[in-house]
Amino acid sequence: MNLEHLNELKKLLSSPKKIAIIPHKNPDGDAIGSTLALWHYLVNNGHTASVVAPNDFPKFLKWMPGADQILNFEKENSQSKTCISNAEIIFTLDFNHLGRVGQMSESLELASATFVMVDHHQEPSDYAKIMYSDVRMSSTCEMVYVLINQLGKKDSITTEMANCIYTGIMTDTGSFKFKATTSNTHRVVADLMDKGAEGTEIHHRIYDTNSPSRLHLLGCALKNMVILEEYATAYITLSQEELDKYNYQKGDTEGFVNYGLTLDGIQLAVIFIENKEEGILKISFRSVGDFSVNDFARTHFNGGGHTNAAGGKSDDSIEETITFFTSLLPQYKNQLRS
Ligand code: 5GP
Ligand code: MN
Repeated sequence: MNLEHLNELKKLLSSPKKIAIIPHKNPDGDAIGSTLALWHYLVNNGHTASVVAPNDFPKFLKWMPGADQILNFEKENSQSKTCISNAEIIFTLDFNHLGRVGQMSESLELASATFVMVDHHQEPSDYAKIMYSDVRMSSTCEMVYVLINQLGKKDSITTEMANCIYTGIMTDTGSFKFKATTSNTHRVVADLMDKGAEGTEIHHRIYDTNSPSRLHLLGCALKNMVILEEYATAYITLSQEELDKYNYQKGDTEGFVNYGLTLDGIQLAVIFIENKEEGILKISFRSVGDFSVNDFARTHFNGGGHTNAAGGKSDDSIEETITFFTSLLPQYKNQLRS
């Protein structure tokens, strides 16, 4: 965070405040990890704070310290709204435009609080008075660590906070393998381990607590995979019917898209997942190298994210969306085969 914004934040936090901390819709490990780490920090430093999530989050994140205190805007609507309207400061973490919180955006737009953004996605919008936006960062969790350090409070990072921050760094870096994983990321992780973060245990709780039905759903997804060698592309579709057949639970499809990239020579991997309730397809894009799925998702699928990991959506059927998607590929052929 630059000095001007940091000083402004320091001044704001110099007396006890009412604070709401907001992750994006369908929060992942980084969103839940960063909001909870910041929540612990603020509560431990005398503030009244709540994490308000736009909707529920996967079971494999529920063990995180403080997760049981998170308000779900969909389920605890009036309590969540009160919390947002009473807040003097609203931190938004791991997203950078208000459309990413779904229905909750109306409440945020009405709020009178000072907004603070902490985020590592591209092209931030300008709703926040205090901004810490850095696309080079591995994760919002790493940024929360850096921010607490900048506030001069590194020693106040507890084991609970260390476990939360470790989780988000681990999930957003694909277990420390993506390009945004820097030597500084490893230095942060080393310090978190010194503060008691339990890497092996966290890995187990996130990745090794599958249900049989999730693995069967993965089998279905892999069977559905289509490989377009000409465009170095692999895509997967999952219909609502298939999700229902394998008793889909929130978070079950997390990581499926990455299997496409494990194929030799594949540069672009995509998964299209039908959500009948919302009447949309949720799309995840992953790439290796210079092909920007952020640009691709932003231009064609009302989405965005990072150069190598982005999301978007489609209002059309699976068949129509696949036809549209494949019709786009010829114009990217040179980039994809480079
Ligand atoms: P995922 O595919 O795992 O849902 O998301 C990949 C990355 O893209 C994440 O950093 C996520 O925050 C971002 N992302 C996912 N969906 C959307 C979307 O609909 N809009 C934007 N702007 N970003 C998204
Ligand atoms: Mn993130």
